[in-house]
Amino acid sequence: MADDRDRVIIIGAGPTGLTLALLLARAGIRCTLVERNVAPQAHPAACILNTRTMEVFREIGVAKDILEHCQNVFERANITWVTSLSGRQLGQLSAVPDDPAAVLALSPEHATLFPQNRLEPLLWEKVSQDPLIEFLSEHNCTSVRDSGNCATVSLKRGNRTLTRHGDYLIGCDGASGRTRHLAGIGAKDDLLQPMIGIYFTADLSRFVSHRPSILYWLLCKDVSGVLIASWLPTEWVLFTPYFPPQQSPAEYDGDRCRHLVSAAVGSSVVDLDIKLVWPWAMTAMLCDRYRRGRIFLCGDAAHAFPPTGGLGLNTGVQDAHNLAWKLAAVVNGVAGPALLDTYETERRPVAMKNLEHSVANFDNMGDLLGVIGLNMRMLARMQAVLRSRLFTLLPLRFQKNVLEFALRKAQARVAVFSADNDRGARARTELRRRIPGQAPHYNSLGLDLGFTYERGAFVPEATPKPRVPDPVRTYRPTTWPGARLPHIWVRKNGMAHSTHDLLRYDAFTLFTRSDGRLVWRDLVDSLRNDLPMSIQCLSIGPDRDDDLHDPDDAWPSLSEVEAGGAVLVRPDGHVAWRSRVVSDASAAELRAAVLQSLRLQAEQ
Ligand SMILES: Cc1cc2nc3c(=O)[nH]c(=O)nc-3n(C[C@H](O)[C@H](O)[C@H](O)COP(=O)(O)OP(=O)(O)OC[C@H]3O[C@@H](n4cnc5c(N)ncnc54)[C@H](O)[C@@H]3O)c2cc1C
Repeated sequence: MADDRDRVIIIGAGPTGLTLALLLARAGIRCTLVERNVAPQAHPAACILNTRTMEVFREIGVAKDILEHCQNVFERANITWVTSLSGRQLGQLSAVPDDPAAVLALSPEHATLFPQNRLEPLLWEKVSQDPLIEFLSEHNCTSVRDSGNCATVSLKRGNRTLTRHGDYLIGCDGASGRTRHLAGIGAKDDLLQPMIGIYFTADLSRFVSHRPSILYWLLCKDVSGVLIASWLPTEWVLFTPYFPPQQSPAEYDGDRCRHLVSAAVGSSVVDLDIKLVWPWAMTAMLCDRYRRGRIFLCGDAAHAFPPTGGLGLNTGVQDAHNLAWKLAAVVNGVAGPALLDTYETERRPVAMKNLEHSVANFDNMGDLLGVIGLNMRMLARMQAVLRSRLFTLLPLRFQKNVLEFALRKAQARVAVFSADNDRGARARTELRRRIPGQAPHYNSLGLDLGFTYERGAFVPEATPKPRVPDPVRTYRPTTWPGARLPHIWVRKNGMAHSTHDLLRYDAFTLFTRSDGRLVWRDLVDSLRNDLPMSIQCLSIGPDRDDDLHDPDDAWPSLSEVEAGGAVLVRPDGHVAWRSRVVSDASAAELRAAVLQSLRLQAEQ
């Protein structure tokens, strides 16, 4: 390979591309990160960082910064339905789990709220300081090409055009990025609802200090949508639907936005400062494939979910985590190129599940509208008419009048929630009865930690996958191959570590119990010169001689193996293989498991 060629070129410095660059650098792989903008994005967008994402951020050394700077998630993890921010409270759900201590014991980190416009500057700074990352901001990628033996990109900065070649090119350029089109990768893409986001600052403490929340859903006759409290009580985003082609984003000028914000707050807002207004298409998109030759898609470039579930950024960061160790292993020559195919076989089904969940949440919001005889199907039907060829041939003024009439009728029904009469009271009671049905939208620990790869870079087991009663909400730790390594706190040299902290980016880790410690250590030693990637062998147990002291004796049951058994874990913390016992065949099985996981040996 020529020395002037990049190892990995990443297009797009959103949360996905930034994380991927940092993970590659951590594995010692040089990369070039290309971003068309000169600064991180200004609006808050994503706020919810789930537990698994925080574990990835722990690995790249930013979780601590986030926790130091974020607002207390436990104090404000509520979802509140209101007639306006200053108006009547119609209902509330808490997103704090029923048993917080039990959830906190599942990971060294926990889910938190940290808006994207605070997260990205942290990651930009870290990327800019890393000597292994060449960060080209203000460079627009205009073409990508896979010429067989390398990937080539053209970058534009002002009038200057630059060509770069790399071993691999990763499109992290978001849902409207061009890499997937340029690579000829198709997608299933459904437009759910065009939205206008109004990002503003105003001190709204007097309306919210008694009911701090993440989201305030508006059931208000003058504006529909949601107020997202990006940073309580001063930073807000009002998301409200609009209906092209009859309505255009250009209509949302300063006056209109001020009017909408005042309607949402239910009062004039003296210190209102509108920072940004942007149109945004709420879509459900999944690419047909994640790879074509040397070109890969990652994050929103590969999938875009409606934000109903808060999974977009999280899935992207976790895609990057899955791809990074595989790229590092292939670039370093310790894995077969086919390892990179497992990125799609592992991650695309996760995206599909997260997409289904987010769309189901979106549809399920219709259950609340059902109280006043509206539903999501009506919305879809209205969208279809508005966009139909026949309707759009009519005079625009007429189209607008029809739309405004339909919206006025719907809003008039919503007004019942504010009514001080029997009808209003009945509607409010029915709404309160239905609100608990929205809980899966805001509590998805099962999707967060319990996603399990079913085909990919590991040795699948014939045993059935452990079942949980509600796979969206419930997480049950397991060492079933493909699952995330269970976390416990262990002590090493007097210091507490998560089992996740002990993983190495350039090695597999074999966790044994005390009884099997010596025999597995010998087995690993015997394979030392026979494997391209090393195995670190760590025993977890109550003995003084154990590598990791398990003060609560939690590992025997969590490991799901017998006293002589062992669990092999990949650099990204997913289980590659496990052996319930140790036997004469164990050395050969362990060797085969490593080779199979690196795609140097065919699946058995
Ligand atoms: C209102 C809202 C709320 C949300 N809430 C959540 C939430 O709570 N939790 C969650 O997980 N997700 C949430 N999301 C989704 C989340 O914002 C996205 O999933 C996330 O930004 C995707 O990150 P990404 O890095 O993959 O793509 P992006 O953030 O879109 O980044 C792509 C980057 O590529 C750059 N780029 C594009 N084209 C080029 C080019 N040609 N050359 C160079 N650079 C280029 C762009 O400038 C951008 O910096 C929300 C989204 C919205 C809008």
